[in-house]
Amino acid sequence: MISGETKVYGIIGNPIAHTMSPPMHNAAFKELELNCIYVPFLVEEAGLVHAIEGMRAMDIKGLNVTMPHKLAIVPLLDHLDPLAEKIGAVNTVVNKSGILTGYNTDATGFIKALLDNCIYTQGQRVVVLGAGGVSRAICFALAEKKYEICIVNRTYTKALKLANEVSNMFNKDIEAYEMNEKNLQSILSEANILVNATSVGMDSTIEKTPVAAALLSSELVVFDTIYCPIETKLLKSAKNNGAKVIGGLDMLLWQGAIAFKLWTGLEAPFDTMKKEVSSILGLHED
Ligand code: NAP
Repeated sequence: MISGETKVYGIIGNPIAHTMSPPMHNAAFKELELNCIYVPFLVEEAGLVHAIEGMRAMDIKGLNVTMPHKLAIVPLLDHLDPLAEKIGAVNTVVNKSGILTGYNTDATGFIKALLDNCIYTQGQRVVVLGAGGVSRAICFALAEKKYEICIVNRTYTKALKLANEVSNMFNKDIEAYEMNEKNLQSILSEANILVNATSVGMDSTIEKTPVAAALLSSELVVFDTIYCPIETKLLKSAKNNGAKVIGGLDMLLWQGAIAFKLWTGLEAPFDTMKKEVSSILGLHED
């Protein structure tokens, strides 16, 4: 029951109708019997400043932040977690007595999902496909954990720009390549982990894969950030070839679970959150 003491959390973005975060967090609040509610807020670019003023004025306890606000919100906050500061992007805000602190749980959620599924040895070579917002969070998180990174993107200049930024921040060499079959063939022959952070494999490209099946060896760990569909064509091919695969749902759940802990101080009920999101995505869990 919503009462006068209910704490309000939410997500801001545009568009927002597709978000999985309200059912995921409300299921968690219900499971732990917390008097909290999580709601979506459609916020246009011009409304961001007012939305953050509103967060303070209305004592909204926590927000997730999605496109197009992840970068623009940074100067509006009082403090930044060190990794969020390095990335220059925030997806989670904690409001403690009117002091707003920004975090990037996309980055920490990705690392948690990766480490849950693969043995970490410093210096492993990771090929990241894409140079957009998600790739940015992933590349900074990987660099902080001392992985060797190679960024491959359709638009080479964007890959190079991101590689230079990460390289300058962590004082390490990051390679950048244009995405084509010849480059992928030579890069993947030396890689331990492949991460798809492009949108190839979802929506209108659901029948496509960013990497031909023949290039996916059984030695690779293949991580696709896409969670709808849960098993992309890339993951199906990699699995068929004997590679270990990790889907984007794990990353989605972990970014939510880490945000939940930042807001409430409690361990998130991960299985409950997974069940709720999986049922919405129409999955059968094993
Ligand atoms: P974004 O900033 O728009 O970047 C999109 C990237 O995909 C760019 O690098 C773009 O290359 C590349 N791309 C798009 N179409 C392509 C094509 N036909 N061929 C090759 N490359 C193509 O998007 P984003 O926010 O980073 O999101 C990327 C992915 O992350 C999405 O698929 C989304 O599902 C996933 N995601 C997952 C989670 C999670 O929690 N699991 C959360 C958010 C997003 P150019 O630079 O050449 O345009």
